[in-house]
Amino acid sequence: MTAPYDANNIFAKILRGEIPSHEVYEDEETYAFMDVMPQGKGHCLAITKAPFRNILDVDQANLSAVIATTQKLARAVKVAFSADGVTVIQFNEPAAGQTVFHLHFHIIPRFDGVALRP
Ligand code: 5GP
Repeated sequence: MTAPYDANNIFAKILRGEIPSHEVYEDEETYAFMDVMPQGKGHCLAITKAPFRNILDVDQANLSAVIATTQKLARAVKVAFSADGVTVIQFNEPAAGQTVFHLHFHIIPRFDGVALRP
């Protein structure tokens, strides 16, 4: 049993404009912005606008929308940063490393021979 969605999480505040963010993409269902503590150059995040805690409670339509945005960003950062590859990663619940409890995907440009920052 996972906890219910908490509307006081940081990404919900970003969506409401209560906390600033560096926007990189927006459409009707999703929003994307730069990660404030990037694990590498160009690290950004794609989120649903609708309130889901993580992949365990999201519906198919919103999951499809945020995956589509994630793909757009992966393609865009690959070109924008002349990256050699792109890591897409996503965590669900504290045991898996999730720290912000609003569904999000990490998109991180990768460069040959360069490790991610911890
Ligand atoms: P998680 O471990 O939950 O998958 O990752 C949450 C991510 O959100 C982390 O990479 C962290 O750096 C990022 N983050 C946390 N607080 C903020 C914030 O206020 N603004 C932005 N842009 N990113 C944040």
